[in-house]
Amino acid sequence: VRARVMQVDHSPDVTYADIGGLESQMQEVRETVEMPLDRPEMFQQVGIDPPSGVLLHGPPGTGKTMLAKAVANQTDATFIKMAGSELVHKFIGEGAKLVRDLFEVARENEPAVLFIDEIDAIASKRTDSKTSGDAEVQRTMMQLLSEMDGFEERGEIRIIAATNRFDMLDPAILRPGRFDRLIEVPKPDEAGREIIFQIHTRNMNVADDVNFVELAEMADDASGADIKAVCTEAGMFAIRDDRTEIYMDDFVAAWEKISAETDDDSVSRA
Ligand code: ATP
Repeated sequence: VRARVMQVDHSPDVTYADIGGLESQMQEVRETVEMPLDRPEMFQQVGIDPPSGVLLHGPPGTGKTMLAKAVANQTDATFIKMAGSELVHKFIGEGAKLVRDLFEVARENEPAVLFIDEIDAIASKRTDSKTSGDAEVQRTMMQLLSEMDGFEERGEIRIIAATNRFDMLDPAILRPGRFDRLIEVPKPDEAGREIIFQIHTRNMNVADDVNFVELAEMADDASGADIKAVCTEAGMFAIRDDRTEIYMDDFVAAWEKISAETDDDSVSRA
């Protein structure tokens, strides 16, 4: 069961250089997650506890998982990922046990960055907690909180949670000593989009006529994941045309296709 819900990556390959347009978020993640892993003695000497959990919140596909992976990479930590929805929906009745397992695996693999995606699935405000499904979710969350409260024994483990639905979270998980550092990860602005286009075309055979400033302006409202999809699609247009060089027109056509798709189902890709 463990292996199917937990993703354990001993050397994640994402670096900060792969992330575009999130400078202040990167800075904050480095201070709150990287520093305590790299220099725990600093916190001891100063006499403060490092933040125990960091919560990243924002729309899908904006780089939350990337941030967590980049920190793990930078600190030579194991990256361990689990999705809140899998904790409670996939194996009914197993949620609390899976949380215990998760922390056990983290302890076995210290230093570790524990990434809990879709935390809202186990920690949302609920109006009715009488149904059995809700009781199970509740137990899973209580187990998570108790693991987090046992922070001292946790050693070199940092916890990063992520959600697209910040407004739905149970305030209990935002109390001091828990996920008390909130970092908003928004969709990129125009300058951010330009950088993300550059990042995702690094290994592409891009023609001279491709203008990243114009692409960034055009891809209004795109997430990082959307931009990645546009770049891949632009490459596909070139291949379909039996070319190995990608033109500006390919990117424009790709954006039209991708934006029509995202409008259709109004869910961004991740
Ligand atoms: P979700 O909330 O859906 O889990 P997320 O915020 O965790 O999404 P990621 O998984 O980090 O999103 O991003 C998905 C993909 O989109 C990344 O692998 C990357 O290719 C691209 N991407 C997203 N944001 C950025 C960014 N800021 N810079 C560069 N690439 C990005």
